[in-house]
Amino acid sequence: MIATRPIERTRPQMSAPLDPQAELRNFTKTKDFFIGIDSDGCAFDTMEVKHKECFIPNIIKFFDLAAISKYAREVAEFINLYSYWRGVNRFPGLVLTFDMLAERPEVARRGFRLPPVPGLRAWLAKNPKMSNSALEAEIQATDDPDLAITLEWSLAVNASVAEIVHDVPPFPYMRESLVLLDGKADVMVCSATPGEALKREWIEHGLARHVAVIAGQEMGNKGEQISLAAAHQYDKDKILMVGDALGDLSAAQSNGALFFPINPGHEEESWAEFHDVALGRFFAGTYAGDYMNSKIETFKTLLPKETPWAKV
Ligand SMILES: [Mg+2]
Repeated sequence: MIATRPIERTRPQMSAPLDPQAELRNFTKTKDFFIGIDSDGCAFDTMEVKHKECFIPNIIKFFDLAAISKYAREVAEFINLYSYWRGVNRFPGLVLTFDMLAERPEVARRGFRLPPVPGLRAWLAKNPKMSNSALEAEIQATDDPDLAITLEWSLAVNASVAEIVHDVPPFPYMRESLVLLDGKADVMVCSATPGEALKREWIEHGLARHVAVIAGQEMGNKGEQISLAAAHQYDKDKILMVGDALGDLSAAQSNGALFFPINPGHEEESWAEFHDVALGRFFAGTYAGDYMNSKIETFKTLLPKETPWAKV
């Protein structure tokens, strides 16, 4: 009789790349209610300092916009803080800044030519994951100079944020609202900010303990984040997104979820309303309908598409 040996199985040497969305896919509900909360400009008063001190100075520096810096600043502030596009991802936001600047008569009169960035436009047209790591992978594949400078800019922005943005507390009534949610709802931070910066902020302010997942840009856009973590597990009228931009509203609507707006310029009042009124309605099942719709109408008027300056 021939002795048989057990078959040896060799493990593959190459492990599959880590799936950044695995945490969302594997998320299991523990409560009947789910609340997604955006971070920048919604939980924290960080939009102003990030755009004015970190994003915009680096746009001017890396894309040589010194000759039109006044207009570059005005346009970038309008897009990112005070318009329909508030909260747009940094990469399409950058292209939009160049496009809107090109339409300004002051820029035209100076004969200034904005960077055309065809490589960046081509990448965005492919509907990529809009993160630094995805951009880096595309640079490896294409060696495109537009993408290389865009990544340099984006990394410099992150470095400025790490250096400058400290001790910016959550809006009043935000922490108090999280405390009210403890034991009643599963809470997820739902954000387009890089995960590392996001975790730093939520931990720094002792808020991370109130949330089940902290989802940053690596885990997909906010709509995908809600879809992967929540849409299949909770009743639609028990999923609520809290945000300060129209993209947050779309993320909620694309999942059939409810939305509560933190109104730009009126954040403190909004959180007080959330804490005192909206949360109670959400848990009682009386949030959707006239109450939510009137909140959303007011919110939309604060985020116009029409620019406050003339076009060429
Ligand atoms: Mg926001």
